[in-house]
Amino acid sequence: MRILAVDDDQKSLKLMEAMLAPQNYEVLTAFDGEAALAVLRAREVDLVLLDVMMPGRSGLEVLKEIRRDGKLGATPVVLITGLEDRKDRLAGLLAGADDYVSKPYDREELLARIATQVKLVTLRKRLVAELTRSNQDLERFALIAAHDLKAPLQNISGFAALLADDFAVKLGPEAEKHISIIQRSAERMRALIDALLAYSRFGLPGRPFGPVDCAEACDAAISNLAALIAAGEADVRRGPLPVISGDKDLLIQLFQNLIGNGVKYRGKEPPVVSVDAERKGGEWLISVKDNGIGIPPGQYERIFDMFTRLHNWDDYPGTGIGLAACRRIAGLHGGRIWAESEPGKGSVFYVALPAEGSFRATA
Ligand code: ADP
Repeated sequence: MRILAVDDDQKSLKLMEAMLAPQNYEVLTAFDGEAALAVLRAREVDLVLLDVMMPGRSGLEVLKEIRRDGKLGATPVVLITGLEDRKDRLAGLLAGADDYVSKPYDREELLARIATQVKLVTLRKRLVAELTRSNQDLERFALIAAHDLKAPLQNISGFAALLADDFAVKLGPEAEKHISIIQRSAERMRALIDALLAYSRFGLPGRPFGPVDCAEACDAAISNLAALIAAGEADVRRGPLPVISGDKDLLIQLFQNLIGNGVKYRGKEPPVVSVDAERKGGEWLISVKDNGIGIPPGQYERIFDMFTRLHNWDDYPGTGIGLAACRRIAGLHGGRIWAESEPGKGSVFYVALPAEGSFRATA
């Protein structure tokens, strides 16, 4: 377990080190907020002991910076405050501190509080590892199952096409209808399998994140959707978009699903879909707005669940996987996605992505 102790007072740091080292903790030290953030960005740290009163960046500012950072955000922080600083303690807890002790601290109490945090860190690491492993197992299973389903499906489609071409006339109109149902069902199943395969691949270890120009990713998505956009006589507009840390292919997929839906779930008017972004605190808020049929109230969360569809295949073909994939991609980027809508007038899908910090989450 690695602990970072941050205090502008050398003597306090030495004391802290002398207290923690015999407990088998690896102790790193920093004299001010800047140095602390530099250490946190360079090394993996399990727990931060943070003095609130420091010249330059106060402990509270450092804490807020940690919580804003996509990669460091979950690091437990114990604040060390003055005895009378009730206001600081409250502000610290509200800003996301996990615990606090007051100076001059009681050695045993501090060690006990640290031990509690360390226990929680160990538990969380184990749960994340287990969840990641079981997710990967499930994904591998879905990948293999979907892959193995493709060959028999190919046969069904192929032989149905043969029947349609060579025997339909002989068999009569009733048989022709049945064959066409087989063909449409096979087509629907193929779409489902392809979407499942794509979804399962997202969770596999991918390329490390790097800077991605969302404008480029969005333009690539628009170009992939050229046929759908032309067929729907849709007007797709893109405003300036930021460069963020991420995986370009996944972000293309995200834009493609959202813009594609904006075009697909159209009302009577020709579809107009606008993609824009604005900076909000430590996040970029990307919006994809359409003038389509909208989403009934009460369904805004459900539509992100796997296989949830509000329409049947004949009215609007689809698999119910697109938005689940979007939620997954947003999560992998340390972000969130949600929808707002006015039924009959249109919908807006928002994706909030961290403006700084590059990491690949295990969502
Ligand atoms: P699919 O489009 O393949 O059905 P999605 O996961 O992309 O799957 O969407 C789930 C459901 O959410 C859709 O079936 C549709 O009912 C609804 N939906 C998604 N996007 C929109 C939109 N822009 N406007 C209206 N409804 C939408």
